[in-house]
Amino acid sequence: FLSDKSAKVFVAGHGGLVGSAVQRRLVSLGFTNLLVRRRSELDLTSQPAVDAFFLLERPRYVILAAAKVGGIVANSALPADFIADNLLIQTNVVRAAHLAGSVRKLLFLGSSCIYPKFAPQPIPESALLSGPLEPTNQWYAVAKIAGVKLCQAFRLQHGLDAVSAMPTNLYGPRDNFHPDHSHVLPALLRRFHLAKLAAAPRVVVWGSGAPLREFLHVDDLADALVFLMDRYSDLDHVNVGSGAEISIRDLAEMVRDVVGFRGEIVWDASKPDGTPRKLMDSSKIAAMGWKPKIALRDGLVETYKWYVENAAADH
Ligand code: GDP
Repeated sequence: FLSDKSAKVFVAGHGGLVGSAVQRRLVSLGFTNLLVRRRSELDLTSQPAVDAFFLLERPRYVILAAAKVGGIVANSALPADFIADNLLIQTNVVRAAHLAGSVRKLLFLGSSCIYPKFAPQPIPESALLSGPLEPTNQWYAVAKIAGVKLCQAFRLQHGLDAVSAMPTNLYGPRDNFHPDHSHVLPALLRRFHLAKLAAAPRVVVWGSGAPLREFLHVDDLADALVFLMDRYSDLDHVNVGSGAEISIRDLAEMVRDVVGFRGEIVWDASKPDGTPRKLMDSSKIAAMGWKPKIALRDGLVETYKWYVENAAADH
């Protein structure tokens, strides 16, 4: 892949957190023939549209980072969209990649929520389909599990070189900073920022502060995806995590420092902690020779800067 920089690479979902990071990474590596389409130009849930697009453009590589995503609230409000749109997008793209006959490699993006609710920690790749899912995001998770199986099936039956990567909790520029729907890291950046502007005496953070979470900067993920495009070709999916765990308490203090808020942190125990620990076992990609480079604090500084310059005014 890395020796083929003039080849046509289709980055599906280039407007999102992951797709935009992949696009930046490929441009900085010197790829000259990136193929991207906005949703208004190409509806990935439409099979005729996707088939026509692939037959016309004949991309050599495909990175499938397009998906309907959202937090717990969105998942419970729109279960039909979450399962159907994701099944349609991935089926259309993988199948069209096979039919076009031009695709040398396709990489499918999943998520750590494909794993069972009570998977062993750190979660190895082999935990897939070993127990019941977390019910709140099961619609999304079932679609993504089907995506992994879709890649395996097209590899087995048609020889399509389709691989799957499962990232841990991601953060970075273009994250979702919505006041109600965001994940903890953007939620805290925003809340501490607003408290700083208002010179508020304290900031309320949910739960006990005890849960442990793993975070990976999206630019590190993009680096890992390019690495996998270049080096990995197998049936099984690959976890991509940072291996660095932090408690929500330590995270809140780090965000307070990065934002420069001087007040105190108050814990709201009436809000749920969620799962006590969520850590991926990323030893497989580590053994291949990949490791993340961006320390959480540095990534937070950069993400905060992006938020202030680009998104703070929106909410
Ligand atoms: P999870 O990793 O699927 O549990 O998703 P979240 O990122 O939403 O939550 C991670 C942890 O951060 C949970 O223990 C939350 O209770 C805690 N948390 C603390 N403050 C916040 C907040 O303002 N927003 C969110 N989303 N989570 C918070």
